[in-house]
Amino acid sequence: MSHSAIFDSNAVRGDGPLFDVIDPATEEAIAAIPEAGPALVDRAVAAARTSFADRRWRGLDIEARQALLRRAADAIDAAADELAELESRNTGIPLSLIRGRQIGRAAYNFRFFADYIGQSTAELYEQSGDYLTFVRREPVGVAALISPWNAPIALGSMKVAAAIAFGNSCVLKPSEVAPLGISRLIELIQPILPEGVVNLLNGRGQTTGDALVRHQDVDLVSFTGGTRTGAHILSAAGARLKPATMELGGKSANIIFADADLDRAIDGALLGIFSNNGQQCLAGSRILVQRTVYDAFVAAFVARTKRIRIGHPADPATEIGPLASRQHMEHVLSFADEAGAGARLLAGGRRAAGFQQGFYVEPTVVAVDSNSHRICQEEIFGPFAALLPFDTAEDAWAIANDSRFGLACYVWTQSLSTAIAAQDAIAAGVVWINTPMMRELRAPFGGYRDSGIGAEGGRACEAFYTRQKTVTMPRRAVPLRRLGAD
Ligand code: NAD
Repeated sequence: MSHSAIFDSNAVRGDGPLFDVIDPATEEAIAAIPEAGPALVDRAVAAARTSFADRRWRGLDIEARQALLRRAADAIDAAADELAELESRNTGIPLSLIRGRQIGRAAYNFRFFADYIGQSTAELYEQSGDYLTFVRREPVGVAALISPWNAPIALGSMKVAAAIAFGNSCVLKPSEVAPLGISRLIELIQPILPEGVVNLLNGRGQTTGDALVRHQDVDLVSFTGGTRTGAHILSAAGARLKPATMELGGKSANIIFADADLDRAIDGALLGIFSNNGQQCLAGSRILVQRTVYDAFVAAFVARTKRIRIGHPADPATEIGPLASRQHMEHVLSFADEAGAGARLLAGGRRAAGFQQGFYVEPTVVAVDSNSHRICQEEIFGPFAALLPFDTAEDAWAIANDSRFGLACYVWTQSLSTAIAAQDAIAAGVVWINTPMMRELRAPFGGYRDSGIGAEGGRACEAFYTRQKTVTMPRRAVPLRRLGAD
């Protein structure tokens, strides 16, 4: 059980030291949660293994599994206000955004995969009229799911829904920075599902997370988080030949052509970088603007940025709340300190004035001289936009692709041929044309290069969370070669 006035959960158990969970708006500890040590990691994995081995979940008819997934979605909807409040309080992300979109998405994740498994098909091959071969998809086993702090409920629910829909059992370890909302969500859905199918572990990455990933009874690992952590986890999983997906960081380009609808492009660019307090993997953090409209775009973009309302996450007027932690705030501000050497600060760059406490940072805009600047090469993961001009489409593609990341790219143009050329030229897993970040759950979402390996989404999840089994049988007693016969 956690110890807190605002959070008390039966889903949270620990056998290790307590760690504090902070409200980033007040800097106060709002919960103390016991960390799961090795013995508890063992117990959670064993519970998942038992529920997988005795088929209490994967052995259910599809219809029964669908019904329970839909009940889980209903339970999330019914608790939407409470979940949104916990999530907002713990992450600093505006309540309106979480209540308006992210909780609904969490419920939808369960409904989506309930529908998806109803449509899954097997393959059948007929060979020479004599043999039938069919290919089954079976669940893999015990899935370790590790998620970050920037959208704990939306991202954690996606992993759990996908893993269990295909018949796996799972153990989720959310980020220790913001575990409250997702822990409560797990507590709500656990009683709906057979015991042991969904397990929760809280704790730090290097302790609880590491023990989970390395556990010999974990069959696959789904990770969303930073690139360095992902590389570490991938090698731990690889050493035991466990399949793994890695949804990692980004430094996505947002390319604005002179022929774009500029008003819409400005709206989209602001959302692309400042939504979710700027803490999003798919942020359009490098804004490339065609030189003929560069000055006009920059003036309008900076003016709008300065008007963004910074405030308490629970205030409905708030557009940007505090960053998730002191450490993260200091990381983001360290990039503003670099302005001056090849980068001009046009807005922000400081802690926001007018707040006694809280990790509030002004939305920040810099104009950089070159894409090789550290501000353009490293993921900042905060409300921090870098602007730079380009001349031709080829220049734009070259700058966009000059990155070790390849998660997403945004393109704004009214020219069909430019849009078609863009999606072809850009080395990224997702390209949005004339829209900021729309996620289609049936389509794969995943990054190129340092942005990840594998993807999440309908068929991509089916491929990851199942393994294929090929079964062949003759239609009749086909004569066999008779070794050793007379
Ligand atoms: P992080 O890598 O620090 O932590 C992510 C999770 O991994 C946490 O639960 C953490 O406890 C755990 N962890 C850390 N070290 C571990 C270890 N050695 N073994 C096992 N688990 C370990 O990332 P973060 O700071 O929580 O999240 C921000 C990052 O996540 C950003 O880089 C962002 O781009 C990325 N992200 C990517 C996506 C995507 O879909 N591509 C989505 C959201 C966030």
